[in-house]
Amino acid sequence: MRKDPLREAVERLKAEFRGKSHSWIKRALLRLGDVREVRDDLYLVEGRRELGDWKPLYQVWFSQGEGRWYCTCYFSTFGIRRRRDICTHVAAVLLYRRYKKALEKLQNRRVYVAEAVVECRQRLSANGELYVKPLGARDLTFFANPRYHLLVISEARRIVVKCGSYDVLEVEGEEVPLATARFLVERFYEGEE
Ligand SMILES: [Zn+2]
Repeated sequence: MRKDPLREAVERLKAEFRGKSHSWIKRALLRLGDVREVRDDLYLVEGRRELGDWKPLYQVWFSQGEGRWYCTCYFSTFGIRRRRDICTHVAAVLLYRRYKKALEKLQNRRVYVAEAVVECRQRLSANGELYVKPLGARDLTFFANPRYHLLVISEARRIVVKCGSYDVLEVEGEEVPLATARFLVERFYEGEE
């Protein structure tokens, strides 16, 4: 859940097309916002003059027969050279498809959350993302009995928080969509205690 879906998509593109330059990847990334999905196997990519395009629109499609992606730029005078390779219009479409899938996966993802107040004098840790706020930190008694307000987001239903090597909390987390969990984290830090 910590991995950025766009970075993940770029890494997969790099792994698939080893030997492609940094600028090739960058051009594909720049085109990401220009991709429009017509069908699962047909896309439109707006041309960009600054990237060397001479048409306002390119069509990118998947040929079942050939088992590969094609672009209208492969069928121009200069395209023959490109056809053996892969153009950044196609690369942008591949990136778009992966990014979209990653985003959908993230949005459908369910996680577990728990909120609690614990007392601890050692390092706090949890089996998930742990968010901590000291309670009454300005109070002198805080140093004698340090208490914390916690929020944990976990992939495990059973949420366990440790203080040093001791379990200070073990609860059933509440199942929520990841987006809701993110919202709870924002809210968690908004209120001062
Ligand atoms: Zn192309």
